[in-house]
Amino acid sequence: MLRNPNEILLVAAVIFGVLQGSWSFVVPQTPFAQSTYPIRSVSTAIFSLSQNRRPIIAGNWKLNPATISEAENLLKLISGNFKNHRTLDGPEIVVFPPFPYLTTAINELDGTGIKVGAQNVGLETKGAFTGEVAASMISSLGASYVMLGHSERRTLYKESDSDINAKVHLCMEQPNLNVILCVGETEEEYESGLLKSVVDLQLKKGLMGLKKEDLKRIVVAYEPVWAIGTGKVATSEQAQSAHIAVRGTLSDLFGVEYANEVKIQYGGSVSPASIDELMQMPDVDGALVGGASLTADSFTRIVDGGTYSNLDNQSPKELIATEVVKTKNVLGESPIWSVKDKCLYWISAPEEEVWAWNLKDSPYRRLMGTTIGCIALQESTEEGDLVVAGERAFIKMNMSSNSKDFASGGEVLCDRPEQTETTRPNDGRVDRQGRLVFGMYNNYHRAGASAGENNAGLYRLNSKLEVESLLDYKYRVSNCICFPKEGDIMYFCDTPTRKVYAFDYPKEDGGKLTNRRLVYTVPPELAGAPDGAQIDSDGFLWIALSGSGRVIRVNPQSGHVDTIVHLPVSSPTSCTFGGEDLDELFITTRGPDGGGLYRVKVPGIKGLPEPEFSINSLQSVPSNSSPVLPTSAPSSTNEFPTPPVPSATRFVPGAHYLS
Ligand code: PEP
Repeated sequence: MLRNPNEILLVAAVIFGVLQGSWSFVVPQTPFAQSTYPIRSVSTAIFSLSQNRRPIIAGNWKLNPATISEAENLLKLISGNFKNHRTLDGPEIVVFPPFPYLTTAINELDGTGIKVGAQNVGLETKGAFTGEVAASMISSLGASYVMLGHSERRTLYKESDSDINAKVHLCMEQPNLNVILCVGETEEEYESGLLKSVVDLQLKKGLMGLKKEDLKRIVVAYEPVWAIGTGKVATSEQAQSAHIAVRGTLSDLFGVEYANEVKIQYGGSVSPASIDELMQMPDVDGALVGGASLTADSFTRIVDGGTYSNLDNQSPKELIATEVVKTKNVLGESPIWSVKDKCLYWISAPEEEVWAWNLKDSPYRRLMGTTIGCIALQESTEEGDLVVAGERAFIKMNMSSNSKDFASGGEVLCDRPEQTETTRPNDGRVDRQGRLVFGMYNNYHRAGASAGENNAGLYRLNSKLEVESLLDYKYRVSNCICFPKEGDIMYFCDTPTRKVYAFDYPKEDGGKLTNRRLVYTVPPELAGAPDGAQIDSDGFLWIALSGSGRVIRVNPQSGHVDTIVHLPVSSPTSCTFGGEDLDELFITTRGPDGGGLYRVKVPGIKGLPEPEFSINSLQSVPSNSSPVLPTSAPSSTNEFPTPPVPSATRFVPGAHYLS
């Protein structure tokens, strides 16, 4: 027997869902329309016609971490990730640290838009109740939420529904407090088909006596007990149908209009891997996250998954790049455009080649006799003056003396740091003050050396040819280095982590990168990882996603992808703007299926002129290294002359150049 009209609507919604084929609300996607953020689909369920609920992602720290200094570290990392972005269009964000850390959390998160809540509150308001905490105290600290009815409090501390209800009322007496009320069934109850009746009772008892208007300050967290801290996540369909049940009870209690406004979070082993699918569900309005909220990056990624804004729901613009030079580079990299020379330069790292193309005549190359990490324009009146980050040393060379394949030789400027065969220079760009920032590459990172002593550092070569270390910690594969026009931020990624970060960049000599914050994480459905990147004049990042055949344009403030450039080959390696108006994007690629240079026009978007490396004194620093010129003449088996036999100076096998 159906008890009320609301239940009839529910059943009708369920039948409609079944008739539709399934309960999964999958958004149809064109082959290219893979949005970074999930698009919340329009529900067939009656309770979800209101799509205006702003999602809420909350982090329940439980009894963690053990000390205030650890709490401060975590808060600083979270604050760094969220400062100035993600909070305007994104979900409401709340963290629930233990009581003693509340004030620190409120202070550290000031300016980020992230709210702070308490994990519990006492049953009394004041007086002789040793060890208790009153709702007024929480509110007076500046906290905005209290979490009530968590299953751990229900089971470990024997909190009854009437205790919880009394606490809800105490919180409602504080005008600035909101409540997250947790409900959920045990595994046994779930197996016995009791989910709906358990949740219904918990809600009815927990919210007893509340006024309709109070509902605006109530969020419900549906947390199946069997999913909390177990790694067993409810499927998105399970969560959706439980949330419909929750909304049904709320509608019984307060009417459908009020019920439609209440946010219902899902909680139970939510992780970066599960958030996107959960958020596809029309009644999943966010997540209550336990374990994964204790790591700043995973919490940030979950918040990104909960982002639901008009902007982020817009499909990205799709462009297709075409091959313009069939170089068949084993590993094309480091494209830079010289406004002065009107010429694009790039390298093929293991083939020891620097390439040049003025977009009119045939491209040509120089053979350097050393594997190359990156190249930079050198400040000079001469056309074609470049600096090459060789395997063992920085070399000054000139590309333009004629259009033949062999340079007249390079001049060693200085040794590169980390004189070890386990690392070599990798990605790099000149900062806006004319210094060359470059990251190193752990040659053995694929052989399980990720945490080992082979990890590599991040450095800056200044105009006196001194090398400064920019970070105190080391990485496996440094990439994505680029700078906006103000020169006060540096973007960077350690490729295997699939995450791109922004740092505050020290303009003064001797400074370090600080205030790391997450800008973008490659979503789980995409293969590959970030490689080289470039910035445009709007300050947006263009990131080559090696392995997923695309370059994406990312808004570093929101992490939103607004443009995807597709390539017919799997591995773009880096990109830069070039051409007369700096409005064409040039993309290097690598083998085995790629290796050519690609180009695409990007209407309405312009690049920035590539800065030049300035050397105060052209006196080179004594070095043990000597780049050796190639010894064999080129043959013409290909469209372009092939490189000579490898130079004897190489001491790291080319096979390591895989990333
Ligand atoms: C929780 O504590 O509310 C919770 C959902 O924990 P976890 O995400 O670790 O399962």
